[in-house]
Parts: sequence; C-alpha cells; structure tokens
Amino acid sequence: MQESSFSGKTSTRVGVLGAGQLGKMMALAAGDWHLPLHFLDQDPDMPAVRFGAEFTRGNFNNYDDVYRFGKTVDVLTIEIEHVNVEALKQLAAEGLPIHPAPEVLEMIKDKGTQKLFYREKGFPTSSFELYPDAKAIKTAVKTGLLSLPFVQKSRSEGYDGKGVQLVKTAEDLDKLMDTPSVVEDMVSIDKELAVIIARNPSGEIRSYQPVEMSFHPEANLVEFLLCPADISEQIALQAEALSKHLAEAMQITGLLAVELFLDNEGKLLINEVAPRPHNSGHHTIESCHTSQFEQHLRAILNWPLGDTGLKVPAAAMLNILGAADALGETSYRGVQEVLAMPATAIHLYGKTSVKPYRKMGHLTVTAESREAVIAKARLLEGKLEAISKR
Ligand code: ADP
Repeated sequence: MQESSFSGKTSTRVGVLGAGQLGKMMALAAGDWHLPLHFLDQDPDMPAVRFGAEFTRGNFNNYDDVYRFGKTVDVLTIEIEHVNVEALKQLAAEGLPIHPAPEVLEMIKDKGTQKLFYREKGFPTSSFELYPDAKAIKTAVKTGLLSLPFVQKSRSEGYDGKGVQLVKTAEDLDKLMDTPSVVEDMVSIDKELAVIIARNPSGEIRSYQPVEMSFHPEANLVEFLLCPADISEQIALQAEALSKHLAEAMQITGLLAVELFLDNEGKLLINEVAPRPHNSGHHTIESCHTSQFEQHLRAILNWPLGDTGLKVPAAAMLNILGAADALGETSYRGVQEVLAMPATAIHLYGKTSVKPYRKMGHLTVTAESREAVIAKARLLEGKLEAISKR
C-alpha cells in the first residue's frame, strides 16, 4: 500500500475542485484528523470556504485555473463533475494523483458515454439511443423508430433534474430540449435506490447499505431518503454486488454513488452514477461508523477504508430546500422547533442566497426502527425551510 505521511500536522496537501456543501462536509470530516483541505472555486462565499484552511479563487472549468491549482497540491479530488478535464489529464500525466481519474470523470459526466459504458460492459440499464438534437428525436417519432413514452436526458450539464424531460404525450414533444441527448425507455419504477461504494487505489472496496429515495414531485429532487431501504435482503445484496462490480469496472478511486431503479418486475437497473460524495449518503454522518465524507478522504489518500455499518437501526434524511417563492438573501424558518426534536441533526450549508428548491441544508433523523424513522421524518417535513429575508 502506498504510504501517506500523516504526522498529526498533516503534510499531504489535498485539493478539492468546488467548494459547495459536499466540500464543506468533506472539510468538516478532515478536521477530525487536523487535515486541511484546499479549495478552488470562484466565490469566497461558498459553503466550504470558512471550513477549509486555504481557498484559491478561480474557475474549475478553466484550464489554466485548474492546472495552476493542481500544481500546488499533492492529491486532487472533486465535489462536482463539471470541471476542466483537459487540465486534469495534463496534471495526471505529470504525476499528480487525481481521484476519480480524469478519464473516468470524462466518461461519467456525459450521460451518453456513461450509458454506452453500461451497454458495452453488459451492466443492466434501461434501453436507450443517442440523438444529436430535438429535430432528430421528432423525426424518429414520426417515422416510428421511437415510440412514446420515453425519457429525454441532456448528455451534458444535466444537473438535479433540470436536464431530464419525461415525454409521455404528443404535446410533450414541444418541450423537448434541443441538445445532444440520451433517449431512454420509460421504466416502470417500483423504487429508486442508491448505493455508495468506496474504493481506494490499492483496490480495497466497501459498500454502504442501499438507501431508498422519494422525490419531490415538482422540483425533481430527492426530498426524503430512508436507510435501510424497504427491500428484501436478496435485492439489497444484489444492489451492493452490482454497484461494487461497477466501481471495479470503472476503476473508481474515491466514492461512487450508484443510483438504481428497482422496476415493477423486481429487476435492478443502473440509472446513473456520481464519482463523489452524494446527497443519498448524507445520513451516514449520524448513522454509520464512517461517514461518506471521511470515507472519501480515506479512499483518495489510500488509507484503510472505514466500517460502513449502521450504528442505529434506521435513519432518514430530508433536504432543506429553498421555498417555492424564495429569492434573495437567505433566512431559515423553523430552526428552533427542529432543534427541540430528539435524535435530529440540522445541517445548514451557509449559502448566502436562496432560490426556489435550491439545496440549502439537510436534516437527519435516527430511530429504533424503519417505521419509527418514517414517522419522525413525516413530522419533520416542511418544518424547516429556507426563505428569503423580507
Ligand atoms: P439527474 O441527473 O437530473 O438527477 P436522473 O437521471 O437521476 O437525472 O433522472 C431524474 C429522475 O427522473 C429520476 O430520479 C427518475 O425519477 C426519473 N427518471 C430518470 N430516468 C428514467 C427512466 N428511464 N424511466 C423512468 N423515470 C426516469
């Protein structure tokens, strides 16, 4: 195993592209080891900045900014996929350890090449075809090559549901995004699951238990997440094995969050992956022996991976979103009320401005059973909201 020097006053310089909430929670985990993280982002008001020892102002999409930043660190990771991959390739060629590897990042950040990877390697996923634009999709419908319903996904920059269009009727064809797209069969979804895998450069691999997601109907964001998922042990083991197999096929170093559909026939399909800490793993801070953020750091530093087991019988996580009419300077409603509730943790990301449905924080609640945790989560729903100052 590659040895990392760790003296308490850690000399390894860990760089992170992006300083959002995932970076902030990474920095908080790193704090336990007194390991400072170094962030590159454009805005000094970003959530991670006050928790990172060092902040470099720059654009993670800009070649020169990423390259120059990379030259100042010993190991580089990301908290967002949409970064300049060309600069990462150059840095990797010059010997910088980068997790995930730039080629893997490049493949994943284009939903088209990601789906082609699944097809080529024989991983179960919904059937799909690639189209260059809206016109080509409409022509395929007209000529009978493609039939309704289907799901259109923008190949790149699709983020938090904004690049996804469910096309069910002929009228929906007017809403097609005019962009290079993946067009997938509409899956009859029984449950949406996620499994987080950690893998270090030595090849050690661990899986967290599957979680079950429920989605906000309007914003298309996860609003409620449950661990353990309400699935049979057999499906849980299958989901973990499939996700591990995928992380190995991709040669992931760091974390891989695997989003899966369990269809109405009981079949698991891979929807998409993210090679970094993920919203579906936030509960691990309170509910697991090792949080996903600590695990990501262990993995990228090639340290032994931590125990992924649950310390409590059940946990639920709720996103704190911007209210539907919120726009402007952030304020929170309901903090006192939620602080008074037992076994509930509040995480506020410190974003200075709020927008409708923007992820502003999250709540984790733990309990003695899945049923009890669902009841507690329902009590919490809508209690804490990010609003704008009047
Ligand atoms: P994003 O990258 O925006 O999170 P996803 O691929 O996760 O995009 O899609 C967002 C949501 O759209 C999914 O959580 C699911 O509810 C729905 N969805 C995506 N693909 C399909 C599909 N092939 N069939 C049915 N529903 C889908």
